[in-house]
Amino acid sequence: MAAKIHIRKNLNQKIALLWVPSHSGVSWNEKADSIAKQVSDFSPYMDWIASEDILSHLKKQSFQITEENYHKSKYQSLIGNIPDFLTISKWTGNRVQDRLIARIISKTITTPGLLSRFNLHPDPLCRVCNEINDISHILLRYQKYASVRVTLWRKLNIVSANITYDVLLSHALVNKNHLLIFVQTLKYFDID
Ligand SMILES: [Zn+2]
Repeated sequence: MAAKIHIRKNLNQKIALLWVPSHSGVSWNEKADSIAKQVSDFSPYMDWIASEDILSHLKKQSFQITEENYHKSKYQSLIGNIPDFLTISKWTGNRVQDRLIARIISKTITTPGLLSRFNLHPDPLCRVCNEINDISHILLRYQKYASVRVTLWRKLNIVSANITYDVLLSHALVNKNHLLIFVQTLKYFDID
């Protein structure tokens, strides 16, 4: 990715950092699709999503959601049944971990699958199973990390081998202890 940015810099093209706030119940994936589409259809710019923008967006959402209305809020349907971000950031050790978790929640960890949406990677597919090689694939399916996954699942009390990304997050972010285990394990998935 750095190389592509460098090329674009040399060509004097503008690099835009873009985050589209989403209060409307539109899923992260639809949002990413629509951003990627705008880029390929209308723009020579590389639109990208800044960590700080994701973080401040999630925190802003937290302020708007009280305990009472949380369970029926759009926020819940947006990111699943997990604590609001202000609660999560009280558990993390620092801002680096906050940004990492914000990227996990918003599925914007840099992966071949995500990069290819922005025409920054030639091949979005996992060579082994032909699925899109995004953060969900890496945490839930990628064979390379099978043993890391078994250990993590046990520590997070996940009993089924076949779970969705939302179910993983609901276990990983349920309390401070699970959150710290999850964050510490991410480096064994080559995520940091
Ligand atoms: Zn695969």
